Amino acid sequence: MTTNSTVLITGASSGIGATYAERFARRGHDLVLVARDKARLDALASRLHEDSGVAVEVRQADLTEPADLAALETRLRDDARIGILINNAGMAQSGGFAQQTAESIQRLITLNTTALTRLAAAVAPRFVQSGAGSIVNIGSVVGFAPEFGMSIYGATKAFVLFLSQGLNLELSPKGVYVQAVLPAATRTEIWERAGIDVNTLTDVMEVGELVDAALVGFDRRELVTIPPLHVAGRWDALDGARQGLLSDIRQAHAAERYRPQA
Ligand code: NAP
Repeated sequence: MTTNSTVLITGASSGIGATYAERFARRGHDLVLVARDKARLDALASRLHEDSGVAVEVRQADLTEPADLAALETRLRDDARIGILINNAGMAQSGGFAQQTAESIQRLITLNTTALTRLAAAVAPRFVQSGAGSIVNIGSVVGFAPEFGMSIYGATKAFVLFLSQGLNLELSPKGVYVQAVLPAATRTEIWERAGIDVNTLTDVMEVGELVDAALVGFDRRELVTIPPLHVAGRWDALDGARQGLLSDIRQAHAAERYRPQA
């Protein structure tokens, strides 16, 4: 597969996804842009085609709709030109846990986890077969931070990190690159869509800086890229502590402190 394989980007109509589209177009990749807002996708596609000369296709899809998701899975399975999947479409949570409705929970989990997993699963067998391909999953530092009070959103992003770590172990020996990108607060529409004024937040990263940093990690074939994490050793320490904990799990017997008192 050439380095200029086609890139399929979900959630490409705004924010991080639209910026990835711009950056990959500049690198000379053809694009498939996916989101619900076709007019915005069309406008972005024309601009990128004019500026960079790449072929840009627009696919209107609501990834919470079973038929739209299934059609995109078919495309990822069948189109051998697609060599990079940017699993970016996502939404944040409005309100706390007690304010959620069954419908809002369903939509959030379906978009942030089910759709992302199914798209990765659709493309993975083909990538494994060809021994090449990249899957980039957009998580969030909120996945480390139950303290932020966005419990369902954070749980979906913890899922994205775990899934990426697992996929890396399963797929990288077969030549497939998997990256989890974990932004912190970044200036995009996600805040407004969740009813939060981004201007009330301090220390917000501009979206171009975030995506450029994520692409540095991508080019280095890094598994976990956390652009706002200034001390890289913090991640290594966390992962080392996790492996230390695993080494002390001895499953044949309960730990001493859980033995019933005679
Ligand atoms: P954004 O500007 O709101 O972009 C979200 C994108 O997802 C849009 O293109 C939107 O397009 C698409 N989308 C939303 N619902 C969809 C659906 N049902 N089906 C298909 N596409 C849908 O926000 P963003 O910040 O760029 O978010 C991108 C990713 O970054 C998300 O996974 C988010 O969780 C993650 N992230 C963002 C931040 C941040 O502070 N901005 C921090 C950490 C992680 P349409 O409305 O046209 O469908």
